[in-house]
Amino acid sequence: MQDFDIIIIGAGPAGAGAAVTARKKGLSVALIDKAAFPRAKLCGGLVTGRCAGHLKEVFDLDLIPGLFEPRRNFEFHLGEQDLGRLDDVPPVYLTMRWDFDRLLHARALRAGAQDFSGRRVETIDPGNDSITLDGDETLRYRVLIGADGVQSIVAKSLFGRAFDPEKVGFALEIEAPSETPDDSTPLRIDFAAAEWGYGWSFPKSRATTVGLGGLHTHNSDMAAHLSAYRQKLDLPEGKTVKGHFLPFGEAKKRPGRGNVLLAGDAAGFVDPLTGEGIGYAIQSGAMAAETGARAIREGRPILAESYYRAATRPIRADIAQARMLRPLMFSRRLQPFFARSFAASRSLKRAYMDLLAGDIGYPVVLMRVLGRLPAVALRHLRARSGQV
Ligand SMILES: Cc1cc2nc3c(=O)[nH]c(=O)nc-3n(C[C@H](O)[C@H](O)[C@H](O)COP(=O)(O)OP(=O)(O)OC[C@H]3O[C@@H](n4cnc5c(N)ncnc54)[C@H](O)[C@@H]3O)c2cc1C
Repeated sequence: MQDFDIIIIGAGPAGAGAAVTARKKGLSVALIDKAAFPRAKLCGGLVTGRCAGHLKEVFDLDLIPGLFEPRRNFEFHLGEQDLGRLDDVPPVYLTMRWDFDRLLHARALRAGAQDFSGRRVETIDPGNDSITLDGDETLRYRVLIGADGVQSIVAKSLFGRAFDPEKVGFALEIEAPSETPDDSTPLRIDFAAAEWGYGWSFPKSRATTVGLGGLHTHNSDMAAHLSAYRQKLDLPEGKTVKGHFLPFGEAKKRPGRGNVLLAGDAAGFVDPLTGEGIGYAIQSGAMAAETGARAIREGRPILAESYYRAATRPIRADIAQARMLRPLMFSRRLQPFFARSFAASRSLKRAYMDLLAGDIGYPVVLMRVLGRLPAVALRHLRARSGQV
């Protein structure tokens, strides 16, 4: 049986971020993933400015050309309605998760994390601070970090289920052909392509990632939405469709228990409007390692969750504020108000881009949006927010 200060289950952005941070603190780290890297991960691969900040801070990673393709132009649609374009906004970046996650994983190993990739965690025994891997190998931890995604077995072991099926999102994606895009090729967002969600088309050098996602309970036939979206974008049928749950703004109030912490998708840290989760994954992974290290240093690993809960409060506050805007962007009743304000206002579109760039937070966006809504829409919004 091997002992580690920190065991991390899941080596995506959250797990790799946790591993690098824990190694900087001089802790022994086991980094486990059931997949061998590189591995596929369903994702649009949009790296926003706020995510880029976390990449730099946690991995000291710059936006290397080739791996990250800058884009400066966006076009927005709602059904048949053209909501306008935004050109020359602060850049966002597109990446392929196959390469991106491989790089982050390699950084974590280079920092000194012990590699357990290609190994599946079979059981978790919080009573004995141990886990069992396939092949019956047992590892012991002082702090365990569950960075094992939306279907987290660590969350299941703590709370009986990984996510609330009433609140989770679901997304479908295809990789369509791409026509050698450059940094002026627009990214396309379609607000009503799915119920309580949206569609996207992100043209990258190797492929155009086309997808749509929304609240699972409101989209009993997501495949039909995708088919309609394909027709709208004039894409041929026949590409392999892949689906994945997305904890679409379902942040857990308690992101762990005692010396067991949940980071990234396992904690539900995904933006409820944009579906963006890579940045929060890196940020929360690093926070889990930092607070875990503090609890270990103090000789009280059991306090890790209380430190971590406090550290991640700003992430949960962000997500809660974004949820207040969700009915406006996604409910059929309020969408016409949103469409009118959004189409007419360059500053609202700009606020959306500044948010993605990490230059402003949701409180500022909320103020700008609420300031533009007619009283009737505000009343509807008040009545609906908190319900979804
Ligand atoms: C269709 C779609 C499009 C998206 N587009 C974007 C986007 O454009 N931009 C963005 O920022 N976010 C996007 N997201 C969200 C983003 O993909 C996630 O928020 C992000 O990957 C979370 O990172 P993570 O490290 O928490 O989890 P993951 O990246 O899911 O990594 C979890 C890891 O845990 C491993 N694992 C799971 N169970 C076990 C086990 N039992 N034993 C060992 N290992 C295990 C898995 O193999 C995996 O490698 C999208 C999501 C979907 C579904």
